[in-house]
Amino acid sequence: MLLKPASSILTDAVFPRRCPVCGEIVPLGTPGGICAACLPKLDLVKGAVCMKCGRELSDASEKYCSDCRKRPKSFAYGCALCNYDDIMQHAVTRIKYANRREYIAPLAGLFAARCADVIRGMDADCLVPVPIHPERRRRRGFNQAELLAEALGGRLGIPVRTDILFRSRRTEPQKELSPDERIRNLLTAFSAPEGAAAGLDVILVDDIYTTGSTIEACTRVLQRAGAGKVYFLALCIVPEA
Ligand SMILES: [Zn+2]
Ligand SMILES: [Zn+2]
Repeated sequence: MLLKPASSILTDAVFPRRCPVCGEIVPLGTPGGICAACLPKLDLVKGAVCMKCGRELSDASEKYCSDCRKRPKSFAYGCALCNYDDIMQHAVTRIKYANRREYIAPLAGLFAARCADVIRGMDADCLVPVPIHPERRRRRGFNQAELLAEALGGRLGIPVRTDILFRSRRTEPQKELSPDERIRNLLTAFSAPEGAAAGLDVILVDDIYTTGSTIEACTRVLQRAGAGKVYFLALCIVPEA
């Protein structure tokens, strides 16, 4: 593994800073690495949020969103930076499929700044990125959740652990499955060595929280491996329908 300073110098040289919203190269010294004109276009999660998954509530008098009311979760709670809209869909797609990994640092910076209190309040031992299958990671060259976790961990002083949770099986697209079927399917896709998370409070990190099936399955796998409280951070979350 490269040392931090060398890796960031290398990253800057190979991947000039680009705004994750418009994709243009951002002049050095632009605070936060996002154009001033683009920053307001990000639909940041705000107002009353679900006490479980952190998504904006359509009914502010409720404590939990309709999904969390319907399906109890095993994790403690989570926090997301942005609502999943066209801008975030474009950004995440470009990160994953057009190698725009340089979009991650500015978004992580914003996330760490905006949600620092919530994240510190979790008082967790480590960040654990949601793993992708090793073959996919090799082909893509990186796991976006891992880069996000490293960027957040570096800013918040929380270690990142990639030796606890593994993706042992690829999953087929799950759109036609019910949420419970998705979780069952995913429970066999992730694995954690026995006792690997013993005594650890863990924050899972992922790019998108949709139905929560992935975070729920990862939570159960980690808790079987001994984890205490499990939280999550997601770059974006699909708003309540
Ligand atoms: Zn921009
Ligand atoms: Zn919720």
